[in-house]
Amino acid sequence: MSQPVFRFAPSPNGQLHLGHAYSALLNEKLASEAGGRLLLRIEDTDISRCRPEFTRANLQDLQWLGLSWQDPVRIQSQHFPVYEKALQTLWDTGYVYPCFCSRKEASRDALETSDPDGQLQYGGTCRDLPKQEAEHRIQNGEQHGWRLKTDGSPAHPWGDVIIAKPKTGSWYHIAVTVDDALQEITHVVRGQDLEAATCIHQLLQAHLKLPTPHYHHHKLIADDAGQKLSKSLKSKSLATLRDEGVTPQSIRETLGFG
Ligand code: GLU
Repeated sequence: MSQPVFRFAPSPNGQLHLGHAYSALLNEKLASEAGGRLLLRIEDTDISRCRPEFTRANLQDLQWLGLSWQDPVRIQSQHFPVYEKALQTLWDTGYVYPCFCSRKEASRDALETSDPDGQLQYGGTCRDLPKQEAEHRIQNGEQHGWRLKTDGSPAHPWGDVIIAKPKTGSWYHIAVTVDDALQEITHVVRGQDLEAATCIHQLLQAHLKLPTPHYHHHKLIADDAGQKLSKSLKSKSLATLRDEGVTPQSIRETLGFG
């Protein structure tokens, strides 16, 4: 059997907090117990939200924490052509289509079923546009996102979900799927907040003929008030804890990895 490969894949759109430390340390622990390797990947394709200074800060935090990963670190923003090629394959094989609807237009003819994010599923206005017309509109610079064809019915939890918006660098679903395969990840261990997205990744794996790793979605770490830690809620960062004199060892102990 090949050696198990785990990964920790932060998005540098803010500072890391204890929730990230938990995920990283859990991956490190499971990789070590399985006699496997831990890789690190910086998921920075979203140019509207990610910043190089956060990449530097995130790497510094993980080094400070004493996380041991195997280099090289994969930086997704250095590999856009790889994700563009996968999207092209999906377009050529008819599994995705460009959608030119504005948010308002998409909501006007939405289905009645909500997706796991609480948004109404897309009604399919652009699903059957003739390919030539769609290509023409892209060439004319019309704004668009790319939707994954599900079966066009509310049965799929996400419906025809947007999987890429090249203009803003929103490549998450494609990039995570392609890179897990490229890095030969065998075990994806990540937070429960991403559990609902896994069926999108598995569908993409099937369409792109990529292997499906094992998935485990771990609990999310809450603060003392029971509130889930999050960058948007400005949870206390690892850098702040470090400045306050907290040691990496005490963080490991607090999180159950002492
Ligand atoms: N980059 C994602 C995040 O920070 C995690 C992706 C994953 O683990 O699959 O939320």
